[in-house]
Amino acid sequence: MANDLIIPSVSVLKGVGAAMLIKLERLGIHNLQDLLFHLPIRYQDRTQVRAIAGLRIGDEALIEAQVSVCEIKFGKKKTLLCRVSDGTGSITLRFFHFSAAQKNHLSKGKMLRIFGEIRPGPNGLEMVHPEYKPLEADTPVELSLTPVYPMTEGLQQNRVRSLMAQALLWLSNGELPELLPKHLRQRWKLPELHRSLDFLHAPPPQADREKLLNGKHPAQRRLAFEELLAHHLTLLQLRRQVQAQGGFAFCAPAQLSADFLSQLPFKLTGAQMRVSVEISADLQQAQPMLRLVQGDVGSGKTVVAAMAALQAIESNYQAAIMAPTEILAEQHYLSFKAWFAPLDINVGLLTGKIKGKKREKILENFATGVTQLVVGTHALFQEEVRFYNLGLAVIDEQHRFGVHQRLSLREKGRDGLRSPHQLIMTATPIPRTLTMSAYADLDCSIIDELPPGRTPVKTVVISDLQRDKVIARVKLACEQKRQVYWVCTLIEESEALQCQAAEVTAAQLQEQLPNLNIGLIHGRMKSAEKLKIMSAFKGSKEQPAELDLLVATTVIEVGVDVPNASVMIIENPERLGLAQLHQLRGRVGRGSVESFCLLMYRAPLSFTAKQRLQILRDSSDGFVIAEKDLAIRGPGEVLGTRQTGEMQFKIADLQRDTDLLEPVQQLAQQISADNQLSSTITRRWLGAGEQYGHV
Ligand code: ADP
Ligand code: MG
Repeated sequence: MANDLIIPSVSVLKGVGAAMLIKLERLGIHNLQDLLFHLPIRYQDRTQVRAIAGLRIGDEALIEAQVSVCEIKFGKKKTLLCRVSDGTGSITLRFFHFSAAQKNHLSKGKMLRIFGEIRPGPNGLEMVHPEYKPLEADTPVELSLTPVYPMTEGLQQNRVRSLMAQALLWLSNGELPELLPKHLRQRWKLPELHRSLDFLHAPPPQADREKLLNGKHPAQRRLAFEELLAHHLTLLQLRRQVQAQGGFAFCAPAQLSADFLSQLPFKLTGAQMRVSVEISADLQQAQPMLRLVQGDVGSGKTVVAAMAALQAIESNYQAAIMAPTEILAEQHYLSFKAWFAPLDINVGLLTGKIKGKKREKILENFATGVTQLVVGTHALFQEEVRFYNLGLAVIDEQHRFGVHQRLSLREKGRDGLRSPHQLIMTATPIPRTLTMSAYADLDCSIIDELPPGRTPVKTVVISDLQRDKVIARVKLACEQKRQVYWVCTLIEESEALQCQAAEVTAAQLQEQLPNLNIGLIHGRMKSAEKLKIMSAFKGSKEQPAELDLLVATTVIEVGVDVPNASVMIIENPERLGLAQLHQLRGRVGRGSVESFCLLMYRAPLSFTAKQRLQILRDSSDGFVIAEKDLAIRGPGEVLGTRQTGEMQFKIADLQRDTDLLEPVQQLAQQISADNQLSSTITRRWLGAGEQYGHV
């Protein structure tokens, strides 16, 4: 197909040398298509000459005027001031950097054409460093709006504009084929590709600038549509590829599963049961399962994963569970060992911190199949890790992992042809529209019910000026034999500083609460140390909890489970996203007593910040919070940075273009059967499948 023709590198353009190539590369521009997809962020109107009398502050305007005075002012800073008028009014041009020649150009009586932004000045309106040139009788005005491009250092708008003009010329030879069939374009009201590009790089003067600025113009939406479609198709292709490989059909749940359920101290909720059945049906197919389980914090996803793992083990396959943090992996390891040891199932743990002989032994047990259930962190992705016959891979708290990693574990278990079943669990409820685009390759199950007997967490938003009250509250809770989390957050990205802050807080609290046993946990501690602290806080049947209060950084965000903890203090919650706060809060309210979450903000708090915390105070529904978080902070934050790192769009914006997702999804389903078309579209936007396909 035409699109398989190699698209010329930008180096074919006039004015692109080695230095320019580097600058363009910084903008992700390698070839002419990349350049054409580099859309303006806004436009200037140089198509009509405006009267000075009609100018307003903030306008960017083209004027024609005559110099009446031009002088250098010597003040703190040498300034060239030039007064010009056009008969309707006058305005000052102000230059901080100028040459002697420039002053001569701007001598009294000269006629100029000037473009710049209008600002207020000491003597009326001004333009600071406007562009200008002498006005000759036949100087034409621009015929289209002037694009302003996203820039990188050392690159000038004019250079990009001249490159773009050349690229548009290339485009006009029909070089970028239209990939969306006509009937589909008509159906979804999408203009043709080359028309859209022509329009966006040089819109006519009457173009709807408001729409353009907001990315809502049909020409922009056409491109966003195709880009979203490409991403969607990629995920569907992946799904097809995996399913074409075939998988391991497990037997139906049997004795082990029954034994497991009967030894649990509780009954599965209806939602857990339903999702387990969905999973179990998938696992009996000779086609790899690709399923996402969404369930709010505390909805009991671990047990559901355990059921799936048992089905693998009963069918004589290995299962692996991967967690995003060491703490969580260790916690899973302990729970699974407690659950599975009585069933005579071998559970093994691998994290990055386990080294030497011990590691070798663990790896050997994985490879020989001695270990039936493997628990680990991303260490499981490493080259050296080999499985005997991995039949099921469970990835917990998926939003912490990227699409890439998800695929990588899938690869691991492949026995040449077949792929392991895959179960992905996330506690961050994702708005449906986002699920559709980020997880188009997955089926979705939702655990929409919490285990019974939970009292909702009471959330209080409180100023840090009332820290004493908060401390009294902590004391009271501990006297009632409850346990407390105290979470420290910090603006700085530096983990070291966060840990330091937690250390200081722990020491202070110990002074103020001398009778309490206070523990500290943060990301810089050795893994054995973390484990020790966690188990001292959690306690066990044999060993009651030793710690009353646990001071922590956000390392405890994900998955940690200590039912007796009923109070959580979060310092400076205004620094975290709502979804993350909701996750943190989910650490309490796991037992039957009333739990509290105190959001202790640093006063004063801005209006919007207060509003955000109130959303959290008023809702305990992760889905509601996620929707609001999406509205406030955008999809990048909601999906997690890793995730969006790989979901980067050139043009589309998941939030702005939300309404396109539904039609994109429909269309993707329709055309995904057409391999040629869908691979041409994905290649255009994602390259040769590198981003997602090969790991
Ligand atoms: P999450 O979905 O956040 O991963 P967990 O799997 O950690 O939740 O479960 C949270 C807590 O609820 C655990 O202590 C778990 O043992 C308990 N739990 C899970 N399912 C039930 C149930 N059906 N009834 C009562 N408690 C349950
Ligand atoms: Mg969990």
